[in-house]
Amino acid sequence: MRVSVDRDRCVGAGQCVFSAELVFDQDEDDGLVVLQNSDPPLAELDAVGDAVDRCPAGAITLREK
Ligand code: SF4
Repeated sequence: MRVSVDRDRCVGAGQCVFSAELVFDQDEDDGLVVLQNSDPPLAELDAVGDAVDRCPAGAITLREK
C-alpha cells in the first residue's frame, strides 16, 4: 500500500499516531504529521485504515500500489 499525507491540511490532532505509531509521527515543533513509512507492510493496513477514518482533516490518503 501507499500512504501519503497532506501537511497543509493536517491540524495536528495526532489521531494518526494513536492509530498507527509505526507509520505516523508528529513534528516536535509544529505538531503536524510526519510520515515515517509511505510503504508500510500489509500487517499495518487496519491501523492505517483507522488513521484515515479518525483523521479530522482528511489529510491521509491510502492507495493500493
Ligand atoms: S490525524 Fe490527521 S490532522 Fe491529526 S496529526 Fe494525523 S494527519 Fe494530522
